[in-house]
Amino acid sequence: MATPEKINLLDFTSEKLKAFFLERGEKPFRATQIIKWIHQHGVDNFSEMTNVSKALRAELEEIAEIKPLEVAIDNQSDDGTRKWLLRLADGNCIETVFIPEDDRGTLCISSQVGCALDCTFCSTARQGFNRNLSVSEVIGQLWLAKNLLQPDHQENRVISNVVMMGMGEPLLNFENVVDAMDLMLDDNAYGLSKRRVTLSTSGVVPALDRLRERIEVSLAVSLHAPNDELRDQLVPINRKYPIKELMASCLRYMDGKAAREKITIEYVMLEGVNDLDQHAKELINVLRDVPCKVNLIPFNPFPETRYKRSSNNRINRFRDILVDAGLIVMTRKTRGDDIDAACGQLAGQVSDKSRRDVHFARIESS
Ligand code: SF4
Repeated sequence: MATPEKINLLDFTSEKLKAFFLERGEKPFRATQIIKWIHQHGVDNFSEMTNVSKALRAELEEIAEIKPLEVAIDNQSDDGTRKWLLRLADGNCIETVFIPEDDRGTLCISSQVGCALDCTFCSTARQGFNRNLSVSEVIGQLWLAKNLLQPDHQENRVISNVVMMGMGEPLLNFENVVDAMDLMLDDNAYGLSKRRVTLSTSGVVPALDRLRERIEVSLAVSLHAPNDELRDQLVPINRKYPIKELMASCLRYMDGKAAREKITIEYVMLEGVNDLDQHAKELINVLRDVPCKVNLIPFNPFPETRYKRSSNNRINRFRDILVDAGLIVMTRKTRGDDIDAACGQLAGQVSDKSRRDVHFARIESS
């Protein structure tokens, strides 16, 4: 008889682990102990959980495991950016990127294998959609990065911020992403503040409305165009949820939050496509009533793309128009150019070499 597959405890939030232990006749505080061992101490072996009874450890050994993701490629850029290609149990690969800066360390996490949304400037989109990641595969990226970057698990945090901005549209993997973010905020797990966990969406409006009911984190929106005609081309989900609807949903999400909290508006700078003065002026109108900061992202070219990165002069001119209108604007530094840090590039190279089973998910089914 085949041995039953073990339960991966990385799939459990604190609440779900409590329920799991209650079902087995154990006290709920066991869940807190074990969540701390897994996520605070980075333990993947029950024998190290010294405050858990031997009997329970033996029982867990039989039925459960803490199964980390496997590192397929570990690239480090000259600027300190580190990018991992991680192999999942079914052979698919995803990417996770760590970006160190003077005052913070940001981990960019993937939520899906590939992506169905087909944004025309995106390297991940070229791979199509394969499947959603499980909770353990989403939180497992943070678990692994923390273990690799901070093996001593000391107090000071190497990873201070997490952005759900890697491969995939997080709101199309709603339940698993919410559970993973729950662990990021959980004081017994990673204890990050809600201002330091950011979900980035291209605008799945009904899911964004649901998110508000479930969890409070920071919000980033991949806008990339100031009018529907252009955004329909660049971010095709706009045909279903146009800019006005998206902005209204963002305002609902922000309703009741402190005035200092702002939505990050992501805007990739594509030469001659969305970077003209008239686009900046239209953008000012779109964002007039939205509490936001704008992040201008120099395009990171990848093979076979039709787009080019806007020149620095053009980006500066675009920024100045927005700033003169009173908007808060940052220009993202290009990072990790030497290690293909554009989202989806590394996984794209690997999957291009092997035959992949690509299932194009229908947006309508979300
Ligand atoms: S930009 Fe984001 S939502 Fe659009 S195709 Fe790429 S991964 Fe998907």
